[in-house]
Amino acid sequence: MNQQRQHEQKTLILSDIIQGGDEKEVYRKVAGIINARKPSRLIGIGDTISKYASSFELEKHFFSDTNDFLSHLHEFTFRDETILVKGARSFGFEKISRALQQKAHETVLQINLNSLVHNLNYFRSQLKPGTRIMAMVKAFSYGSGSFEIANLLQYHKTDYLAVAYADEGVALRISGISLPIMVMNPEPGSFDTMIRYQLEPEVYSFRVLEMVAEAVKRSGSNEPLPIHIKLDTGMHRLGFQPTDIDKLIRELGENTQLKVQSVFSHLAASDADVHKDFTLLQISRFKEMSGKITATLKYPVLSHILNSAGIIRYPAAQYDMVRLGIGLYGVGVGDEEQKKLENVSTLKTTISQINHLKKGETVGYNCRGLLAKDSVIATVAIGYADGFGRELGNGKGQMWVNGKPAPVVGDVCMDMCMIDITGIAAHEGDEVIIFDNIAALRQMAKAMNTIPYEVLTGLSGRVKRIYTHE
Ligand SMILES: *Cc1c(COP(=O)(O)O)cnc(C)c1O
Repeated sequence: MNQQRQHEQKTLILSDIIQGGDEKEVYRKVAGIINARKPSRLIGIGDTISKYASSFELEKHFFSDTNDFLSHLHEFTFRDETILVKGARSFGFEKISRALQQKAHETVLQINLNSLVHNLNYFRSQLKPGTRIMAMVKAFSYGSGSFEIANLLQYHKTDYLAVAYADEGVALRISGISLPIMVMNPEPGSFDTMIRYQLEPEVYSFRVLEMVAEAVKRSGSNEPLPIHIKLDTGMHRLGFQPTDIDKLIRELGENTQLKVQSVFSHLAASDADVHKDFTLLQISRFKEMSGKITATLKYPVLSHILNSAGIIRYPAAQYDMVRLGIGLYGVGVGDEEQKKLENVSTLKTTISQINHLKKGETVGYNCRGLLAKDSVIATVAIGYADGFGRELGNGKGQMWVNGKPAPVVGDVCMDMCMIDITGIAAHEGDEVIIFDNIAALRQMAKAMNTIPYEVLTGLSGRVKRIYTHE
């Protein structure tokens, strides 16, 4: 629970502790731990923990068993808070997590933090000893959360984090992230803020170098500011060109208030076999350019070029650090690697209404969903404003209801869409899965003419994120 620092309010739901030993001693210890950590409230479930109610010095509620608590659940409000549900097997606390999730929202993205850690460790196992990991948590951690993910990565000793904009880094600092954070796209107005929050800018041009150098002087700080030098080796997005290197080295030498923490570049096509020669060319350009810079600096500098796909395909170019992005979230480059990764995100919604419609009726806007036969149509609570794109309308996209595929009928609306559940046993209120595995995510991306990156980052803010961690 202490890994999750984004909410002030914290509730602990705890069952009887079932283990041997002296009961009094066990509960004295448990009360000691809880009284020291101070969650906002304790919900104790079981006759034994109830007996020791007076040992707990905080807001507390006790119930004799799980069903007793569930029958009182409606009396509790849970809002903007972290809830730790921890119980002995026999208490069946999964009923509680299910009830709490239903209380939360209709359309949710469930993020399995255990799987994320699994993926982190898989990539770790592919690295040479001593190679650092910079985890990419830009764009709300590829749609899956900001503090929640960063906290976990910090806890699991990732070396670095990277965000796209200074604001994203500030939000992480405010929520208690102390890992070094690189900001890839520092805006001109953000350098003072970055210095204040110990964020490390990516410097990709002489213009940015000048702005950073000025900001450090202005701040009056005696500590040099760590910066990251971006080299353009062929992606042609951001970075210094090969012809800039001599001038860059001179300017770095003159600006001793800046400390080059790392030199890096980005591969444009590390996941595509057809571009292998191009990728190798990028790597060799990087080696040459970065080598010149690091050779003239009188302190150690980290070099890095690999993203997720690069880690798998070009292990010889791991250098000092790698930048892990999509792989962390479970999307691999090839079939072999995909088998080793676990899916992190499950997108699901519920059925709002079921209609039995006659052949010839149409469904949705513009009468696009013409029914060729009598059909059972379910309206579900997700639309293009949630990130379920209009491209998925009229049979292009599908969902799963009680394990069976149900195609989208008609156009996707802003907040809802309709699916054909003819022949599927389903009721209003039932859960509908949009994706709960990478193959389904890929399929959805393909139907939207895009890639999994865009589907994940395109899930809107109103889709509630629910984190599970066991
Ligand atoms: C997003 C990004 C990455 C991570 O890429 P993945 O393909 O998601 O692993 C690495 N480096 C830079 C510069 C990036 O912008």
